[in-house]
Amino acid sequence: MFNKDIALLLSKEYDSFYLYDEEVIIAATQKLKTCFPNAHFLYSVKTNANAKVVNSVLSQGFGVDAASVNEVKLGIQNGISKSNIQYSAPGKTLQNIKDTLGSAVIIADSLNEIALIQQAAAEKNIVACIGIRINPSFSFSGGNAMPSKFGVDEKQLFDQLPSLQNFSNIRIIGLHIHLRSQELNSDILENYYTNIFALTERFQILSEHPLEFVNMGSGIGIPYSPQDVPLDIALLGSATTTLISKMQARFPVLQVYIETGRYVVGKAGVYFTKVLDKKISCGKCFVILNNTLNGFIRPSLAQLVSYYSKQESPVGSEPLFTSKNAFEVIALTDTNDVETVTLTGNLCTATDVVASDITLPKLKIGDVIAITNAGSYAAVLSPMQFSSQVPPAELFLTKDTQIIQ
Ligand SMILES: *Cc1c(COP(=O)(O)O)cnc(C)c1O
Repeated sequence: MFNKDIALLLSKEYDSFYLYDEEVIIAATQKLKTCFPNAHFLYSVKTNANAKVVNSVLSQGFGVDAASVNEVKLGIQNGISKSNIQYSAPGKTLQNIKDTLGSAVIIADSLNEIALIQQAAAEKNIVACIGIRINPSFSFSGGNAMPSKFGVDEKQLFDQLPSLQNFSNIRIIGLHIHLRSQELNSDILENYYTNIFALTERFQILSEHPLEFVNMGSGIGIPYSPQDVPLDIALLGSATTTLISKMQARFPVLQVYIETGRYVVGKAGVYFTKVLDKKISCGKCFVILNNTLNGFIRPSLAQLVSYYSKQESPVGSEPLFTSKNAFEVIALTDTNDVETVTLTGNLCTATDVVASDITLPKLKIGDVIAITNAGSYAAVLSPMQFSSQVPPAELFLTKDTQIIQ
C-alpha cells in the first residue's frame, strides 16, 4: 500500500505530509482506458489539485473537468487543448465566462448563464460552442427527477429550446449530466448511462445541430471501508463500451466523456502524521498528532458523523463524508504490545478526533501514523487557516522512486 521505509525517512523531516504514488495513479488511469476503450476521461481537478498529481493524470491522456477559472488555467498550463477542458460549475460570473471563453468548453449551469455566455460571445463577435448541464428527468438510481442546484431541469430546457436557438452567438454542442459520486454497484451505473443516452437522443431530435459530446459525469467509486465490495470496473466497462458503440452507430460525431477524480487518485495518497504528545486523563489514553482535522479533515468528520448518527451506515455526503470507517489508521511501529487509545490532533478544539478508543500498537512520542485513502478530497479540503499551523507537505513519489515536492 505504501513504502514504510520511505515514509519513516520522510517523517524525520516532516511532522505531517501527504505522499502521492505515481505508480498507483498511472495504474488506475490505465485500468480505465483499458476497460472503456471508446470513452474519453476528464480529470476532476477539484479532487486533488497538486501540480505533480495533475500533471501525472493528464499525461495519461485525460482532459480536464474544471470547476473554476483557476482549474481551467491549470489545464492550459499542462498543454490541454480547448476541446478537452470542460468548465462546469454553478454561479459563473460574466468575468469567469470572459476569462475562459477562448480556452475551455463552457458548460452552462443555468438559463441565466446561457444568456451571459451569449453576451460575452456577442461582444467578441464569435459563436461560442457550449455544453449545458442538465438536471435530468430521472434520478441516479432510476427514479423520478430530484430538485437540484445544478444544471437546468430537463423539462425546462426542452421547453426553452426554441427560444435558445435565437441566441445567435451560441451553439449547443454537448450535454453534461452528473448526479452522484462514489457508486460501487455497476448495474446502477450502467442504468444511469443508459438513461443518459436516452436523454441525449431526446435532445438530439429537438436540436438542429449534431451533438458533439455527452459528458456522463462521475459515479465510479472506490472501496473505502473493509466492508465495501469494489465496483466491477471490467463489467461496467464492457457494458458501457457496447452502449457507446450503439450510440455512435446512430450519432457518428458524438464523443462520450466520463469524469473522475477519486478513482484515479483516491488510493494513490496516504497521509502521515507524527505523535507529538501522549497523556492519560481520567484513565483514558490520548495521543496528540500533528495537523489532523486541519491537515486531513475527513477522518475527523467521519468521527463527528459517527458521534451524532446512531445509524450503522449513515448515507454519504460527498466529498465531506463517505462512511464511518472509511480510513484505516496504521501505526508505523515495530512493537507487538497493543493498547487502547484515542487519537486526536494538536488544535485548540476537542473536535479534532481521528479515532476513539482504537486498539493500536503502543505509540511513543515521535512515532508515525499513516491514514489511508488520502489521495482525493484530502489536502484540498484542509482548513489550514484555522489556528495558523504549518501545513502538511505534499510529496510525490515518481515511478522511478524519486521524491519531489
Ligand atoms: C466532483 C465532481 C466529480 C468528481 O467525482 P468523483 O466521483 O469524486 O471522482 C466529477 N464531476 C463533477 C461534475 C463533479 O462535481
